[in-house]
Amino acid sequence: MRIVVLAGGIGGARFLRGLKSAAPDADITVIGNTGDDIHLFGLKVCPDLDTVMYTLGGGINEEQGWGRAGESFTVKEELAAYGVGPEWFGLGDRDFATHIVRSQMMSAGYPLSTVTEALCDRWKPGVRLLPMTDDRVETHVLIDTADIGDPAAGEGGGRKAVHFQEYWVRLRASVPAHAVVPVGADQSKPAPGVLEAIAEADVVLFPPSNPVVSIGTILAVPGVREAIADAGVPVVGLSPIVGDAPVRGMADKVLAAVGVEATATAVAEHYGSGLLDGWLVDTVDAAAVPRIDTAGIRSKAVPLMMTDVEAAARMAAEALTLAEEVRA
Ligand code: GDP
Ligand code: CA
Repeated sequence: MRIVVLAGGIGGARFLRGLKSAAPDADITVIGNTGDDIHLFGLKVCPDLDTVMYTLGGGINEEQGWGRAGESFTVKEELAAYGVGPEWFGLGDRDFATHIVRSQMMSAGYPLSTVTEALCDRWKPGVRLLPMTDDRVETHVLIDTADIGDPAAGEGGGRKAVHFQEYWVRLRASVPAHAVVPVGADQSKPAPGVLEAIAEADVVLFPPSNPVVSIGTILAVPGVREAIADAGVPVVGLSPIVGDAPVRGMADKVLAAVGVEATATAVAEHYGSGLLDGWLVDTVDAAAVPRIDTAGIRSKAVPLMMTDVEAAARMAAEALTLAEEVRA
């Protein structure tokens, strides 16, 4: 069976680990979000691709969910001693090596997709990991300057766009987001293999990744949404919202920016029946099932907390079962 999964960072990576365990013989292609990518210290950092690669390759910091296990921060401390930041973005020594290799290959002219494949030669994630695009796409978030005490805020304040990582990591999504813009997406092309994988898939899965800044960004690459909608195969998603709140992180803040409530139902309706055929909600949200069904998306309530690999594997198995039900 050929499975295509659209993935952000933690939610995508943990789900994928479960999927590999639930469907060991499946041929899995992951289309990873690159809208979170950022250039730091002259290096290209791809947080979501790396979270998937490290999680599936056994190098992830488990408690944190991102970054390397057994990490140290000597380089960061030395940079800080030079007064060179940002200090709010935690790059460890081991992680730095990944970004150095990636940046070196990219300055030699290799596209991100080739570089990602080369990095995966080491990590052997057991899936084919493709960036959504080889082109530069950067998610920006529009905020009020007055909210961050920006001295440039004029009379009545103004708005400015900040890089997604600045909004998420530095500001911890503590101020309202007015818009989320995947800058460059409209000009981007799907990376080699992306549309082919979708066209050849037997099933497409949306893990419980962020619907706006992870999956939404991948769907903003021209051609990807259409390819999924037209593939004629079941498309099944799992809600990242459980009991009207994100399981981890601040997804509610970016959902608000696109006018979507932080509920399992609203997220399903946001994707819509033109894209989604099936949607798993957590058992605490079982009451939402009839309304989602009415919206033309087959829904089922099952436990959706990825407390360990076995729990994630059960979720993946449920998603594949729902896919077969909608196919029938
Ligand atoms: P990021 O790029 O690291 O933010 O990761 P993703 O976009 O892949 O996933 C983030 C989303 O995963 C958040 O909105 C969380 O609510 C969701 N999430 C994290 N852990 C779980 C879990 O155990 N169960 C469910 N249902 N969602 C989860
Ligand atoms: Ca991310």
